[in-house]
Amino acid sequence: MKSFFKNFLVFLLVFLVVASLFSIFTNKTDQPENILMSDFVNLIKDEQVSEVVVSGDEINITLNSGDKKITKKEMGESLSSLLNNFEVDSEKISKMDISIQEDDGFASFMMSLLPFLIPFLLVIIFLYFMMKGVTGANSKAMMFGQSQAKEFDGNQKNKTTFKDVAGAKEAKQELSEIVDFLRFPKKFHDLGAKIPKGVLLLGSPGTGKTLMAKAVAGEANVPFFSISGSEFVEMFVGVGASRVRSLFQKAKKSSPCIVFIDEIDAVGRRRGAGLGGSHDEREQTLNQILVEMDGFDQNINIIIIAATNRPDVLDPALLRPGRFDRQVVIDVPDLRDREEILQVHAKKKPLAKDVELKQIAQRTPGFSGADLANVLNEGAILAARQNKKVVELVDLFEAIEKVMIGPERKSRIISDEEKKITAYHEAGHALVAHFLPNSDPVHKVSIIARGQAGGYTLKLPLNDKKLYTKNYFLDEIAVLLAGHLTEKDIFGEVTTGATSDLRRATSLARRLVTDYGMSDKLGPRTFGEKEEMIFLGREIHEQRDYSEKVAEKIDEEIAQIMKEGEKRALEVLNTKREYLEKIVKVLLEKETIEKEEFDSLLIE
Ligand code: ADP
Ligand code: ZN
Repeated sequence: MKSFFKNFLVFLLVFLVVASLFSIFTNKTDQPENILMSDFVNLIKDEQVSEVVVSGDEINITLNSGDKKITKKEMGESLSSLLNNFEVDSEKISKMDISIQEDDGFASFMMSLLPFLIPFLLVIIFLYFMMKGVTGANSKAMMFGQSQAKEFDGNQKNKTTFKDVAGAKEAKQELSEIVDFLRFPKKFHDLGAKIPKGVLLLGSPGTGKTLMAKAVAGEANVPFFSISGSEFVEMFVGVGASRVRSLFQKAKKSSPCIVFIDEIDAVGRRRGAGLGGSHDEREQTLNQILVEMDGFDQNINIIIIAATNRPDVLDPALLRPGRFDRQVVIDVPDLRDREEILQVHAKKKPLAKDVELKQIAQRTPGFSGADLANVLNEGAILAARQNKKVVELVDLFEAIEKVMIGPERKSRIISDEEKKITAYHEAGHALVAHFLPNSDPVHKVSIIARGQAGGYTLKLPLNDKKLYTKNYFLDEIAVLLAGHLTEKDIFGEVTTGATSDLRRATSLARRLVTDYGMSDKLGPRTFGEKEEMIFLGREIHEQRDYSEKVAEKIDEEIAQIMKEGEKRALEVLNTKREYLEKIVKVLLEKETIEKEEFDSLLIE
């Protein structure tokens, strides 16, 4: 678009210059006076005319006095017949020098045409530029088979390097090997070592897989091609495969380079597990990727980095030696890594002096790198909205909750009755969470609506956890049920406010039995094959690998676990009733209670 305007401006300028030159040359400054034909005839009759030059339909007259006049005749009519018509004596005519000037055909032709031509030209040029834009877009639509890989040159100035990726030390270590392969391939060739072709990055969304792949390219100073697996899968069969082909063609031209395939699970799912049409296309695309990977020989130095968060669904063929045989796990960051990531992203944001990023890191267990970047950004937005010069701690705390649960909806008007119900509901969660030994401590209780929730109780673990016990889950189920139970106890009936609590508690109970082997009755085994199938665009999870009888038992066990959770919750609710009222009173008054106040409420 920019170049279009540039072209257009240049064109306009040239046009103006030409037009002005043109008008200078054509503008005769001593234009002779225009006279009528009858005046001309009279002048001849008075014998004042010395010379007549006819050029086209113009008659240029020079008088004896030297004055010049001009008049026009009809096109095609000759001067002599004209003078005849006016009954001029032939004797008087013969006294004048009469010359007929050959009409300068082209010039006058152009002169008469130009006024029509210029707008025409303008329109044509305008159309040309329009068409150019349109065909640009159009040809993109026609180039289905072309890969749409985005290319980043490895030599650009602000390239991504390992410095931009905070934490993830092990991953960086493993990938620095890849950087070596790209930079000094000869070293490895000389020893007969085969350079790996594919690296699989495993990690949940937002943990920085794309960032890491870019950093590898940046460190090795090679071009980086990026494409997402979902881009391969189009409406038309065969498109994916031809995109793969064209992507690798491009890459081979700029070898050594890195090809990054995001979401490889979109094409690389286990073959033969699908139903319906889309699966054919995926299979072709996947086959093409395998063919390309096997195809290029050792002196073409392309390393393919693929990313996925579902390694379990990948086709085993992808993971065979010579293909994606290297796997690098990128974990959700732990406390220290979170602090480092925050530091990276806080660089360009002025933070208040009292802000310690460690505090933010402590409050954000389970956050991915992308979430943390988002927290800092939201914090900066909140601060800017209040016209602050620096981002303060409160802004960042608010941002954490916004990222976690959704934006606060202070303006949502609720009746006093609903407010009271919400207060008891949340107080119930908080109370049970506080008194059950395996539950995480309560960080904040609020009855301000946020996102989908009418109110919320925030719990935060003291340390990052990787392993969870059965007792932790049972207490967790108790806390989830506590809202519902409190409502029932206080008001004698329940509301719809507890729906998502119940759903979460139930699915947690199911997982205890079917995935974690935590049911004593059913023993340490899993139930249900977690095979993925795609049918009409919907994923169908789970295939039963157990009998109807066992299914019944599972349901019984789930009910049993829910009972146990309920029992634990009721125990707390029944014995600590006075605290419940205390919490509710403060909640109705202030709407939110922070950790310090909450703890002091429950000590007395
Ligand atoms: P993924 O590809 O794993 O979904 P991305 O690489 O797209 O994740 O990460 C999204 C954003 O999150 C990055 O652009 C970056 O701003 C931030 N981010 C994630 N991990 C890190 C990290 N370790 N260090 C710094 N920033 C990170
Ligand atoms: Zn609840």
